[in-house]
Amino acid sequence: MNPHRSWVESANRAGCDFPLANLPFGVIDPGHIGVAIGDMVLDLYACLGRDWQATALNGLTEAARKLRPKLIEWLGEGTQKRIPERALIPQSQCKMRLPFTIGDYTDFYASIHHATNVGRLFRPDKPLLPNYKHVPIAYHGRASSVIISGTPVKRPAGQLAEGVFGPTERLDYEMELGMFIGAGNPLSVPIPVREAEEHLFGFCLVNDWSARDIQRWEYQPLGPFLSKSFATSISPWVVMREALEPITSKAGNTGTILPYLRGGNGYDITLEVYLNTQLMGRSNTRDLYWTPAQMIAHHTSNGCNLRSGDLLASGTVSGDAPEARGCLLEIRPEGPFLQDGDEVVIRGYAETPGHARIGFGECRGVIA
Ligand code: MN
Repeated sequence: MNPHRSWVESANRAGCDFPLANLPFGVIDPGHIGVAIGDMVLDLYACLGRDWQATALNGLTEAARKLRPKLIEWLGEGTQKRIPERALIPQSQCKMRLPFTIGDYTDFYASIHHATNVGRLFRPDKPLLPNYKHVPIAYHGRASSVIISGTPVKRPAGQLAEGVFGPTERLDYEMELGMFIGAGNPLSVPIPVREAEEHLFGFCLVNDWSARDIQRWEYQPLGPFLSKSFATSISPWVVMREALEPITSKAGNTGTILPYLRGGNGYDITLEVYLNTQLMGRSNTRDLYWTPAQMIAHHTSNGCNLRSGDLLASGTVSGDAPEARGCLLEIRPEGPFLQDGDEVVIRGYAETPGHARIGFGECRGVIA
């Protein structure tokens, strides 16, 4: 028996997002915890009972981590009898909900290539601000408008310039990696960088929709506000940290940074963004300047408490190459931007040599 094969046949297909080694968690409407396997969903309520009847994963992250090895065994080739047939549902029949009740959402700016490309638009001779290589930059986003993939996005109106209020004419997407906090920390107790990954439950895809005209007018001196808070889309499946092979952090950001930020793993996750089925950008999270552990350690370094289900996002993930840009602002700063009816799809996958392909599914949104 091959330990990597599942008796759920679709999980063994080449290029499948959800092989046996992945098993991401999500929430099926109206409120069961589910696990994706191949093109099916294992309904944990139907399989294991009331403990898994829930509308969110908050408070279930430790139980999920403990269950993972058992699920790998039960869904592995040759052990079919442990799972009742009615517990497996085609993914196409499942309506997905947000995986967590998100109390707080923080958006970082961890891609040095994105920061450089955007900075160049304003400061061609010195694109990167002097703090960039020392402090992980972020802003506090809006949790109430985080929406599940597939929800239409209504074009926001706002102040576009002095004396002008109306629908944004510069609506953009931002391709990002999302990170969900499993166990939080008490107020006033920072999380050390070496322990930070233990607080990271898993990852999802994020589209941080942005209205560039509103942003340009409002962002100084306190950063983005209404240009971002109208909608943020996320993918429904949370890929657990245990499913991914971490890569050691690049030495690049260890020399100049303070001791409380030294440590943490990078992740080798390819992200792709499509506009009306056309590939617009392909980048990789290994090119981020800051690791998830560094973001968590910095976020809590002042004693700020993170809570289970908090969403952190990486910021737009861009690479060095022109075809690796994660938003339209970097590709064509004068437009055209998104039109009504346009559809943006973000996909992600990790293809580490010698390890099963770990897919993220997709994060989809149409401009209404
Ligand atoms: Mn963003």
